[in-house]
Amino acid sequence: MHETSIVNSIMKTLEMEFEQEKLDKMRAIYLKVGKLSNIEPRLLHNAYTAKYPCGTKYHHVALHIETTEIKIKCEKCNHVTQVINYRFICEKCQKPCKNLIQGEEMLIHKVEFND
Ligand SMILES: [Zn+2]
Repeated sequence: MHETSIVNSIMKTLEMEFEQEKLDKMRAIYLKVGKLSNIEPRLLHNAYTAKYPCGTKYHHVALHIETTEIKIKCEKCNHVTQVINYRFICEKCQKPCKNLIQGEEMLIHKVEFND
């Protein structure tokens, strides 16, 4: 399943970034998932819960997923537009625009630890 491999790669990234001692104190993971990233937050949540049921290493760690909007930056006038209904048009000069600056990413925004 697509989402399970994403969960795996998130945990792998965290395990490379932090010492195990620190990871044992991990309290919450905050993700940012772009609307164009092809990741369904609900399914990602399910995959995470399925991977860490009660009694396993990270089952107490909360996963927060924030969906980020699609944004484009116009090459003609540099204006940044938030894309609504997949309408890739600069709201200032009305030119079609494919210069995506946000919306495709999946990133670990923040990790919280217990003191
Ligand atoms: Zn423009």
